[in-house]
Amino acid sequence: MKSVWLLLVGLTVAPLSTSGFAQQMDFDKVQIITEQLGPNVYMLSGTGGLDPSHDDAAGGRIGVLAGPDGVLMIDSQYTQLTDKVLAAIRKISNGPIRYLVNTYIHRDHTAGNAFFAKQGAVIFAREELRDGMVRLSQAPNASANPVANPAGFPVITYGMGAPVKIRMNAEVVHFIPIRAAHTGGDTNIKFENANVLFIGDFYRNYGYPYIDINNGGSLKGMIEGLYATMKSADANTTLVPGHGTLIKRDDIIPYRDMILAVSDKVRQLIAQGKSLPDVLAAKVTGPYDPKTAGGTGASAERFVSAVYQEITGGK
Ligand SMILES: [Zn+2]
Repeated sequence: MKSVWLLLVGLTVAPLSTSGFAQQMDFDKVQIITEQLGPNVYMLSGTGGLDPSHDDAAGGRIGVLAGPDGVLMIDSQYTQLTDKVLAAIRKISNGPIRYLVNTYIHRDHTAGNAFFAKQGAVIFAREELRDGMVRLSQAPNASANPVANPAGFPVITYGMGAPVKIRMNAEVVHFIPIRAAHTGGDTNIKFENANVLFIGDFYRNYGYPYIDINNGGSLKGMIEGLYATMKSADANTTLVPGHGTLIKRDDIIPYRDMILAVSDKVRQLIAQGKSLPDVLAAKVTGPYDPKTAGGTGASAERFVSAVYQEITGGK
C-alpha cells in the first residue's frame, strides 16, 4: 500500500522536478498566440497539442497590460519559450517591461522569471511563493531547475492582507492573495477597468483540480479561493485560467460543487475504513469524467489522492 501512495505523491511533484513533463516537449514547434481581452489587456498562450502536461496550450498563460506607461506581465512561462514570449510582447509594445507578477510557483508560470528580470521587470509574488523558490534553490538539483534561479526570485512580496494595487496605462491592477489553494502562494490578478481576472491554476477546466499539497496547496483553501474569486468578479467579468478556456463567474459554481461532491464521497469511503487504493478504485469522479476535458485517469487520481491526503492528514 505504501508504495502506491508514494508513487501517487511523486506524481504531484513532477512539474517542479527537473525530470518533469516539460523536457519531453518539442519547444521549437510552440508558437505564442496573442489575444486582446480588453483595453490594453492581452493574453498570450502557447499552441495546443505539444505539451504533454497541458494539451490545450503549451505552458501557462501569460497576461500583458501594455500602454504608454510600459508593460506589466502576469507569469513568465517555461524558460525555453521566453524569447518567443518577448517577441510576442514586442508586437504589442516597445515600452519597458516594468512589472511581473506570478500567479503561483510551478515552472510553467515562473521559469522565465530570471529572463524577464534581466529585461528590467520587478517581480512581485506572495511571500510563500518566494519561500518555495528559496527552498528549491537549496535542493541538490537546484542548478538544473530554472525555478530555483535566484535571479528570478520575487523582489517585492506580500501576504494575505489587502491586495497590492498598481496604477498604470489607465488601469488599476489588483494582486489579490488567495488562501492556500492550488499552492500556498496563489494570487489572482484583476484588471479593474478591462474587467478581466487572471485566476492562475486553482481553477481549471482542462483536467481535474490540482491541489499541490507538497507546495502548500489545500482542498479547504481551494474551496475558499473559489468563493473569493466569485466575489472579485461580476457576471460580465472575463476570467482567465492558467490553462483551458476562458470562463465567466458562474462557471465556477458547477466546478465548486463537483469538488464538494467528490470530497464528500471520499470522506464517506474513509469513514468506512477504505484505503487510498480502494478509494481510487471506486472511481468517485465517474459522473464528472465525460464532462471533464482532459479528465484522464492520471488527473482524476492526482485530484482524489490529494483530497484523500488532506482528509486523512497524510495517514
Ligand atoms: Zn499551470
